[in-house]
Order: sequence, then structure tokens, then C-alpha cells
Amino acid sequence: MTDLDQDVDFAVLPLGGAGEIGMNLYLYGWGRGLNRKWFMVDCGVMFGDASTPGIDIILPDIEFIEDRRKDLAAILITHAHEDHIGAVPYLAHRLGVPVYGTKFALLLIRQKLEELGLEDEVRLKEVRAGKKYSFGEVAVEWIPVTHSLPEPNALAFFTPAGTVIHTGDFKIDRTPTIPPEFSFDRFRQLGDEGVEALVCDSTNAIRPGRSPSEREVAAELRKIIMEAPQRVAVTTFSSHVGRIRAVVEAAEEAGREVVVAGFAMRRVIEAAREVGLLDTRHRFLDEEAFGYLERDKVLLLCSGSQGEPNAALSRIADDAHRNIALEEGDLVIFSSFTIPGNEKAVFSVVNRLAMLGVEVIMNTPERLVHTSGHPRQEELRELYDLVRPKRLIPMHGEFLHMRAQQKLAEEHGIGETALMADGELLRLAPGPAEVLAEVESGQWHLDGRLLTPGDDGPTKQRRKLSYVGVVAVSVALDFKGNIRGAVQLVADGLPEVTEHGELMEDVLIDAADAALEGMGRARRRNDETVIDTLRLAVRRAARAEWGKKPVVHVLVQRV
Ligand SMILES: [Zn+2]
Ligand SMILES: [Zn+2]
Repeated sequence: MTDLDQDVDFAVLPLGGAGEIGMNLYLYGWGRGLNRKWFMVDCGVMFGDASTPGIDIILPDIEFIEDRRKDLAAILITHAHEDHIGAVPYLAHRLGVPVYGTKFALLLIRQKLEELGLEDEVRLKEVRAGKKYSFGEVAVEWIPVTHSLPEPNALAFFTPAGTVIHTGDFKIDRTPTIPPEFSFDRFRQLGDEGVEALVCDSTNAIRPGRSPSEREVAAELRKIIMEAPQRVAVTTFSSHVGRIRAVVEAAEEAGREVVVAGFAMRRVIEAAREVGLLDTRHRFLDEEAFGYLERDKVLLLCSGSQGEPNAALSRIADDAHRNIALEEGDLVIFSSFTIPGNEKAVFSVVNRLAMLGVEVIMNTPERLVHTSGHPRQEELRELYDLVRPKRLIPMHGEFLHMRAQQKLAEEHGIGETALMADGELLRLAPGPAEVLAEVESGQWHLDGRLLTPGDDGPTKQRRKLSYVGVVAVSVALDFKGNIRGAVQLVADGLPEVTEHGELMEDVLIDAADAALEGMGRARRRNDETVIDTLRLAVRRAARAEWGKKPVVHVLVQRV
């Protein structure tokens, strides 16, 4: 082996997902420094919140890999959750490489591409779990795990420097409600052959014990549905086919017809049928059927578990749904957990349901109507024992979660651990795990139809406007500096009247007038001077009356 060959290694470079739960995008690369053959594992989104006004979807900034797309071999998809595939429809066509994934993930990606009219721009290549796909010196295998939607997979990379396993999202569930089973044998076999690095889901690493099985949740749901005297509505994550199947089977046993409300849920049910996870024996009725069914003969499956204001459940809680109404004595089950940040919205729905007299069941240790799809500490240890990696790299978590997994792995005797951060290239094999380089990373916002920078794009200004509002002032002057018309002013997002009962706009116009008069003709010949003076005067006047300074725009017209 020459000296040069010794610097060739397999490394990971997250552009999203290390330090946040969401927008997962991990680049893996075989080569030297930043000159590598790259693989993109997942291409997900995060959702906007109050800090990103007007933005629903946040994507990873992929400029680094877009600049190197000739070196990118493929986009490899682990599973179909939005935090793993949500950015594919917006980014894949810019990269020009095929997207590899199992059937269910590709079905959902294709639906999204069709909505955007991009289905001909992106090549989708269906893979079979258990088979090796070669890309030059590196081969990849999809390994089935258990999670909270159909076809979750880990990925194994076989490189000249050894094997690296990327777990994707997983839990170890010995009794899932839909196939596949967790691949105990394959992980053990890879462990026997030797694994250089395990890059592992950290979402629940701070929680001791094991997450309950889907079967336990199915049993609890069955019990509740069998005993319910009136209508039952169940809301869950729309992609959770295992849960949907458990609910449908319970409904059938209880002699209830299943009515589906919500576009996303119907779309997933259709995809689940195509991959054979729901068979045509199960009947799903449209929401129009709801009104015709007896109170104890219907079960409603609906979207809205996160309190989304446009979802079916929120409209039902407002008693404003076109086809569906619930009343005193009916039951709503939240077969879900509340994603941090959505608490207010969810409790608002629960309160409105309570006003209608509807009973609500949410997940508690006593009423197990939901379980997480991510591994707790016992499950992580079990995977460590199967795989026996030389080094462990936590991913898919905030730093709190990744740090917790690092500690767990160290206590479990794994020889080496390292923390990843977005934008850092970390060597995985051969060891030691070390940061080799740092590159630009960040966020993009989907703003309307456009992708904008997350850091200094338009949302920064919008955030500011949401605190202070905006004032526009227009003045007409001639070229000698004479005033040729009354000052015009519009204020948006400011209080209408002052504490003395004056109109705020009048107060601000007076301030602008006085400033303009006071400038003198000579200084009024310069646009910049006029703009600066009026802006200052209006901001001062607003501050004196209101205690806050708005954004002020001054438009000068020369007539
Ligand atoms: Zn995830
Ligand atoms: Zn997931």
C-alpha cells in the first residue's frame, strides 16, 4: 500500500439531522479529503414554527453537494417519513442522480413529484431489501428494521475500509402489527464479520427501558373500541400503517364500519394497499357515509393528531365539518404523541371537543394508545451487542439526545465514540473517528414556490415586522427642494390611536411634516438626506407615543 492510499477513507458529512430532529441528510463518501464519491442518505424536511413566519417547510442547504454533483452517485432513502424524504421533490431534480429506495417510499415520493409536475425529472430506482447494490468500490444493502411506518430500513455500506451501518430510524419491536420483522440475524452476521462504525438513531436515547410493542398498543385500542358505547374517532400519524391496520381490525371485530377523513391518510392507505400491507378485505368508506351509520356502527379514522387547524379533527371539534359531527358521549382517541411545539394546538382541539361533550383519550402509562418508533436505552444496547461496532456515532437527535447515546455507548464498552455536527466531515473507517474538514451548511426555506436562504432570507425581516409593524411615507418635492404636496403616510401593524386619543397616523404625519419643513430647501435637494431625516423623525415620534420603533420606508418623488 502506498502512502497516498492510506489517506483514503470512508467518512460521513451530515448536512442536516445532527443536532436537530428533522431534515435528515447524511452524505457518506469514499475518497480523500473533500474529493470523494458521495452518497446522499435521505433528504428530509423540518416544519416551520412561530420563528419562521410564513414558512411551513425547512430544507437542508445542499450547496456543498450541488457544487459536486458530478461526484454524487445516488440518493439512498431509508424510509418514507417526511424528515427523510420531504425534500426529495424540491431538491432531487437539481442533483440529477437517481433516488434509490424500497417500493413504499418511492410510491410516496412519486405522488409528491407528480403534484409538482416533476415526475419526469427524477429517476426512481426500486431496491429489494437484502440485496447488495454496487456503486464502484462501495456497495449498499437495505436491511429491514421495525419503526412506525411501512418498509423502514437500515443501510450497510461495504467499503474497502470495512463495513459501516447507518441505522435509519428504528426500534426493536418483536411483535410489530405489520411486516417486516427486525433483522436480528443479518445484524448479528454483519457483527460477526466485523463492523467499523455504527451510525445510530438517538431520538429516545435519554429514555431508559424499552419502548412498548405495537401489539400492546393494538390490544389497548381493541379493548377501548370494543367497549365504546357510541361513535369512536381515532387520529394518528397518517403514515402509520401498522397502527391504522390495528384500528381497522379492532373496528371490524366490534362490527363497526371504518370511515376515513383526511387526504394524507387516504393517500397512505392507497400506497399501503399497493405494497400489500392492507388488503381489499378491509373496507374504507368516504366521509359522506358517516352520517348514515348508526352511532355504535362507525369508527372514524382521521388526520389532525397535531392540532393542525385545517385537518379534519380540528374542523370536527369546531362543529364545522361538512360531513362529520360528534356529540355528547362520543369518543376521540389520540393514538399519537404531541410533537414538541404543537402542545397549544392539540390542547385547543381537546378543549373544543370537551365543549361538545366528547370524551378524549390520550396516551398515558395507564392507557397505552401510542408507542414511539425509536429505540430506548435497552434497545440501543441490544443493537450494540448484535453489531459490536468498533465505533459508535450518534445521529438523528438534538445534542442532548446524541450526547446521551454517546454516554450509553461508552458505558456499554464500545471502544470509540464521536459526535457529528452538521457541516463536519467525520472519518469513520478506518479509524480513528476524526473531523477532517468543515463545510458550509445551513437551512433553506420553502417560501411560496421559491427556495430562500434560512439565515438572511425574507423571514428575518418578516420576524422583525411581526414585532413592530411598518410605516410608509411618501413626499413630493421639486428639484429645487420645494415641497410640492402633502406628506402621505400609511402605517400597518401599529396601534391605531395614542394614549391621548389621537390617531397614530396623524401624529406620525405631523412629525414627518415638521421634519420636512425644518430641513430647509437646500438640504431637501438631496434624496438621501430627505429619506434619513424623515425616517428618523417618524421612528422618534412612534417611540415617544408607543414605546416602539417601526420599520419606516420613505419614498421621495421629484415633480
Ligand atoms: Zn426520522
Ligand atoms: Zn422515521
